[in-house]
Amino acid sequence: MSVDEPAGGFVTGKPTVVVALGGHAFVKRGETGTHEDHRNNAARISESLMTLVDREYQLVITHGNGPQVGALLAQDERCRDQQPGSPLDVHVARTEGSLGYYLQQELLNSLRRRSVRRFVVTVITQVIVDGDDPAFEKPTKPIGPFLARDEALRRRDELGWVVGEEKGRGWRRLVPSPMPRRVIQRDMIREATAKGHIVVAAGGGGIPVRKTAAGDYEGVEAVIDKDRTSAVLAQEIGAHLLLILTDVDRVYLGYAGESPKPLGAVTLAECAAYIEAGHFPPGSMGPKVEAIHDFLIKGGSRGLITSADRLEEALAGRAGTHFIGRI
Ligand code: ADP
Ligand code: MG
Repeated sequence: MSVDEPAGGFVTGKPTVVVALGGHAFVKRGETGTHEDHRNNAARISESLMTLVDREYQLVITHGNGPQVGALLAQDERCRDQQPGSPLDVHVARTEGSLGYYLQQELLNSLRRRSVRRFVVTVITQVIVDGDDPAFEKPTKPIGPFLARDEALRRRDELGWVVGEEKGRGWRRLVPSPMPRRVIQRDMIREATAKGHIVVAAGGGGIPVRKTAAGDYEGVEAVIDKDRTSAVLAQEIGAHLLLILTDVDRVYLGYAGESPKPLGAVTLAECAAYIEAGHFPPGSMGPKVEAIHDFLIKGGSRGLITSADRLEEALAGRAGTHFIGRI
């Protein structure tokens, strides 16, 4: 199938789509992340998601939170002597609330303008990770502001942080990025979605929690990749399509090379082979393609990677990279 042919098969009855919004959905490059930036971007995204509403998809929306958690951590650093800071899991919860609010508001406005009567709900989402995930042994994900070496080492000694130097830029806190295992609120998300409500869930990849020896949940200071959590959630709620919106219109082979080759349609076998050949770097396109691959392996039908601007064209099969599961 070439990119110019319709992908087909998306709309059968009322299929569910999990849409993962990129970290720059709410704050675009060059913006500082003001309240107005968030509102304007949420409004723009909401309008582009209306093409899914027009097609009568059931809708679950997940999103990144990198810039927003970064801002909260920087605030903690600046105010350290005046007021207590928060652990990372609480900051993730905060951004799920605030970004969920922006989306709820603007989605409701977009729905109202179309006279579509659907509701929007944000779920503060906890995601179970394994306490013995190997990621806990070697934290790798840099978060928060850059610090001077002395300051970073003091945080390490006083607060038990793992810190590391980023060449030429300074020191930062490093946290683990464990694999998501289960979304605690999955049944509620599935039921609300099946009723036609639009659900915003698993913001920032969800709040990582683990089970204590006594069987209680407790938050952990870690971050979960939002694309990976989106794949787990999509599988758990029986979604038809995992749609990842980012800032490129499609996936390329040889992206950093002289003549990148755009991918139109990719079978499961091709997808596995491209991952194996190392075409997609960790931390950007890697987790997206791997997330879609995992979703399809576990029975999902379709994956799609494109940008919000090209969404309508992509749904018509004229843009984006389409991943096709087992038929
Ligand atoms: P998001 O915030 O949406 O998760 P990321 O920055 O993590 O965005 O990932 C998207 C980026 O991945 C693109 O901006 C692009 O520069 C980069 N990228 C890396 N490899 C590829 C590839 N093979 N094809 C397309 N984009 C790629
Ligand atoms: Mg990313």
